[in-house]
Amino acid sequence: MKKIAEELRKQCGREISQCNNHELYEALLALVQKEAAGRESSEGKKKIYYISAEFLIGKLLSNNLINLGWYDEVRDLLAANGKDICEVEEAEPEPSLGNGGLGRLAACFLDSMAGLGLNGAGIGLNYHLGLFKQEFEEELQKETPNPWIEEKSWLIRRDVSYPVEFGSLTVHSRLYDIAVTGYRNRTNWLHLFDVESVDEGIVGEGISFDKEDIAKNLTLFLYPDDSDEAGRKLRVYQQYFMVSNGAQMILDECVERGCTLHDLPEYAVIQINDTHPSMVIPELIRLLTKRGIDFDEAVEIVQKTCAYTNHTILAEALEKWPISYLKEVVPQLVPIIEILDDRIRRKYAGEQVAIIDGDDRVHMANMDIHYGFSANGVAYLHTEILKNTELKDFYELYPEKFNNKTNGITFRRWLLHCNHPLADYITKKIGAGYKKDVKELEKIGAFDDEASLRELLEIKHQNKMALKHYLWESQGIEIDENSIFDIQVKRLHEYKRQQMNVLYVIHKYLEIKKGKVPTTPITVIFGAKAAPAYVIAKDIIHLILCLEKLVNQDPQVSPYLKVVMVENYNVTQAEKLIPACDISEQISLASKEASGTGNMKFMLNGAVTLGTMDGANVEIAQLVGKENIYIFGESSETVIRHYEKADYVSKDYYEKNDDIKEAVDFIIGEELMEIGKKENLQRLYDELMNKDWFMTLLDYEDYSRVREQAYKDYEDRLGWAKKMLVNISKAGFFSSDRTIAEYNRDIWRLSGETLG
Ligand SMILES: *Cc1c(COP(=O)(O)O)cnc(C)c1O
Repeated sequence: MKKIAEELRKQCGREISQCNNHELYEALLALVQKEAAGRESSEGKKKIYYISAEFLIGKLLSNNLINLGWYDEVRDLLAANGKDICEVEEAEPEPSLGNGGLGRLAACFLDSMAGLGLNGAGIGLNYHLGLFKQEFEEELQKETPNPWIEEKSWLIRRDVSYPVEFGSLTVHSRLYDIAVTGYRNRTNWLHLFDVESVDEGIVGEGISFDKEDIAKNLTLFLYPDDSDEAGRKLRVYQQYFMVSNGAQMILDECVERGCTLHDLPEYAVIQINDTHPSMVIPELIRLLTKRGIDFDEAVEIVQKTCAYTNHTILAEALEKWPISYLKEVVPQLVPIIEILDDRIRRKYAGEQVAIIDGDDRVHMANMDIHYGFSANGVAYLHTEILKNTELKDFYELYPEKFNNKTNGITFRRWLLHCNHPLADYITKKIGAGYKKDVKELEKIGAFDDEASLRELLEIKHQNKMALKHYLWESQGIEIDENSIFDIQVKRLHEYKRQQMNVLYVIHKYLEIKKGKVPTTPITVIFGAKAAPAYVIAKDIIHLILCLEKLVNQDPQVSPYLKVVMVENYNVTQAEKLIPACDISEQISLASKEASGTGNMKFMLNGAVTLGTMDGANVEIAQLVGKENIYIFGESSETVIRHYEKADYVSKDYYEKNDDIKEAVDFIIGEELMEIGKKENLQRLYDELMNKDWFMTLLDYEDYSRVREQAYKDYEDRLGWAKKMLVNISKAGFFSSDRTIAEYNRDIWRLSGETLG
């Protein structure tokens, strides 16, 4: 305590009580950075490089304090000086380096690698303006830049730079590092590459900018709008910039550690997170041959070094770059990719497994699977679908490459940091051992006596009060802490079916108008960003915002039902929403959500899942048993059959069911039309009636029935608390420590060492 107090005073240049929250944040940041750097370890011959276009890391101060073992001390020290650590946390801007689940997964994985003592690093890009900041204006999503880098930040500028050659220009990179502290363990690094010529000044209205000014725009935004060709090419520029820097750095590091390059697989393993980093394969081959290695051997080396993770079966998300783009942006890779394709074509006849297709497009995932040694899915069901349906042809060629790694989340952030009351309660009951060994968490299940269950309900109530205050302070929305908090927060996508949730809310609204009021009031909370060019997704946001206005302003309805759409859903907000949740909406169309990780965070914090048999929901259901989860909807097999036969007709469901008809018609009814825009509402209505590609209406009836059942069961408070308890006690499986231990056991094979 004394040491930290002194250091903090020294950093601030005056008494702690005299500093404002921002000064304290910066002083703590400096202290943490110094301590973290001191825990860096270069031990271990082999190193895992996790390359990813996104790292949704969230704020770092508290997480680092927890990992360093400093949290309680700092909290008490601040309190003794009249300061609140939560308010100091508020001063930190959230890094905007990710988009959704895939980026958050990468962040959880870095935390677990360091916590398990694995010699690892993340490799990505330093986006200055992030994805985008979401604002609501006239019930519409508006995108604005999300600058997050302040003068003092977690980024450490390094004396490392590489030339990266494109077809028409060469840029020189600059490396920035962020320390990844391991829980009571070593420090690893997240390497973020940048270009010095980047210019935030070129951003005009909203998030528009000159997409062709590569030297100035390269590291401005994550996932620039790809609805036009310049945007798509910019994505290729970014991807190549990321992997070329990564590959140069990996080779340099390995050589420095004694690698001859012939033995690269003994020094490095590269995990390719989805297809964005796939060009690392031809780039490494290129660099190895430049350094004197035969082409054939280079291919072999790379094949033994790279492993691929698939995150989706949505065809539109599996990247296929026209070879013409690559010829323009990265001409040096084209002959290599052509040879790689040619070798596959000589070996295997099927057009489905080719790398370059008949339309001259490069299938990035196909290249990863052929020229990597491992291909994994991210939940049991997802991997089965890959093997049996989506990647069946590849599975038949390489059964030994396919493996499953069910996703996980770091309990440091998603329990210890975001839910102090629950973490303290668990520690009081079963001791602190579960913080390092999550298997111990199961012991909490034994505390199912009435007094313990009431304590659990009291903790949930406390978290609901905290969320109520937060929403009031941040958005001026008032909610009832005694209502059921029913929450769906995740990226907006039709397959995630926020629109189905909305149809139910409309139904509930109409019921209440007719005089049928719920026993306990309901608060339905949404949070979601839509991709800027995804028209229907933005229409769904429009519908939610119109409904929010209609419902909350109706004095007859709002005592019983409230709708909240939180603005700019991000990690910081997730940390406040999840601990307060009663019902976790995980309602994707079966077969479409590869895993989900939001579902795991909610479960760990004592929410009960309302969901389909999709992604990791399948494993959650298996762990908690059917009494402790609300499952509805058609199975993935049935859904896949509907797609194969193309026999789903949404209108049939609309016509068969009066509730559906009433709710769908309401979208273009006069109440909403008065608040909203005809163009958006009509387009969404038409989509549901004539297309409904993700089969909203297929599952609506069952969804509505099961949701009603959940609300009914909620009335039995002790019965509900028991469900909460089972969910918490069974969540240990979803620790990313378990996931990473499996990656290491089956794919990476590092000899992990632990400090302390
Ligand atoms: C966990 C998380 C996600 C992923 O949520 P899913 O429900 O799994 O899609 C997305 N965004 C944020 C901010 C998260 O914390």
